Amino acid sequence: MSKKKVIISACLLGHLCRYDGRTKGIDAIVKKFKDYEIIPFCPEAQVFGTPREKISVVKLDAKHRIITDNTNKDVTQLLKDEINSFIKLYPDADAIVLKSKSPSCGYATTPIMNKEKEVVNLGNGIAAEIFLKEYTTIKIKDELNY
Ligand code: SF4
Repeated sequence: MSKKKVIISACLLGHLCRYDGRTKGIDAIVKKFKDYEIIPFCPEAQVFGTPREKISVVKLDAKHRIITDNTNKDVTQLLKDEINSFIKLYPDADAIVLKSKSPSCGYATTPIMNKEKEVVNLGNGIAAEIFLKEYTTIKIKDELNY
């Protein structure tokens, strides 16, 4: 019988894929899903490489956009395309554990900025937002609650 599949933010698995080249690896997550096929997920590293410029979720004209912190580029579509391609490869995941507070992976914990780059709210990163619409039967977890 094939194993169940869990999608996990790659930085939680010890991959050195954070914007600054570091990791946020948590052994207990790997242990908990030891009987699953673990599918690492890091859309930012796929699109921009590592290390890379930091990005943020910014609310512009009532829409959430992903904007680079220093160069002010809108990279929303690049990330969307990468995340949608990933979902096509793994439509049959059984569980999802994402990194909290990230502009890509955060689920209900990501700082949402206004155009002055002040935090106005907490919400979802772009990947969590798309996953919610695509993996409708899976409850998304993060490293604070998995
Ligand atoms: Fe990659 Fe998501 Fe971790 Fe950011 S939070 S480094 S996008 S896996």
